[in-house]
Amino acid sequence: MSNLAITTDFAPPKIVAHSNTDLCPLIYELIPAHGCSFGCEYCNVYSMKSEKTHTPIRVFPNYAELLSKTIDEHKKGKRTPTYYLSPKTDIFQPSLVDSGIAEQLLHVLAEKEVDFLLVTKGALPNTRILDLLERAKPHGRVCVSLGMKNEKHAKAMEPGAATLAERWELTRLCTSRGIPMMGTIEPILPLRDLSFVRDIIRRFVELGVDHFAVDFARVSHQALEGMIAKLPELEEMRELYHHPDAVPQEFETGPYYREKIMRYAPPTAWLTEKFALLKEYSKEVRSTISGCSYFKVPGLNDEALERGFLCFGIHDPERAARNQRKGNSLPVIAS
Ligand code: SF4
Repeated sequence: MSNLAITTDFAPPKIVAHSNTDLCPLIYELIPAHGCSFGCEYCNVYSMKSEKTHTPIRVFPNYAELLSKTIDEHKKGKRTPTYYLSPKTDIFQPSLVDSGIAEQLLHVLAEKEVDFLLVTKGALPNTRILDLLERAKPHGRVCVSLGMKNEKHAKAMEPGAATLAERWELTRLCTSRGIPMMGTIEPILPLRDLSFVRDIIRRFVELGVDHFAVDFARVSHQALEGMIAKLPELEEMRELYHHPDAVPQEFETGPYYREKIMRYAPPTAWLTEKFALLKEYSKEVRSTISGCSYFKVPGLNDEALERGFLCFGIHDPERAARNQRKGNSLPVIAS
């Protein structure tokens, strides 16, 4: 996917806080581009309507300056949020790497010593970026996003993203440098056989990652049909997303002119059972999972909270230390 524009025709979006529930910690979203060449078929921003809108890709050249000013204002106001890099795009997509913006942003975040999460389906772009991630320790956490069953599924569903092998390699490189990490096992396609998630968790743990954010795909019926057209074996998912108890959510999609669409989650009873299964998978290898509080699955986040994971990848060291003093934190697996 090409069609890249460095844009000056409209200002970058303001850096604003985002939360799904009252329980969410303070997270500010960093969106240095609109559009995404990774082209995911399930993307909530670009794939929810029949017509896909991943391109054109517009990058905002002065975003690092905006970020720097915003952090200074937050510091002045004594706010200590976590910065999320990046919803609505992927920070390791070629347009953000080749334009230098990915590096500029990491430079600002490392220099100002603020907490951030970098979530990506990309490969490691270059060693300078790895060096910056190392410099940002312990404030920056890399969340490798990997939820597909195999390379065939990844190629069909995330055609422009890195191969799974490249994402495992990014994981290995980061853990070998002691960079805080997490596995973002999202979105999981709600297939009848979920044992592939167990394999993903085990592989991450072997590489030294012991906490995971998990979520099942929430898609519109149009997106679902696009996914099945790309990968006919996903037909079995129709049963869940068209189930009378599928959970409808009115959702705003699109980066510029946001439109309301209806997307669906699998039925609550199904989610409750399967989240429990994922928790079992994680416990088998002494790791933890976090799921969005939106689903209100009882006890889902208990063990993760004990270790100080407030939300999908946000770690609160004070809470972890308090729990450790009480002697009730789970053992941390050495990397
Ligand atoms: S990487 Fe993220 S933003 Fe890009 S297409 Fe995929 S889901 Fe959408």
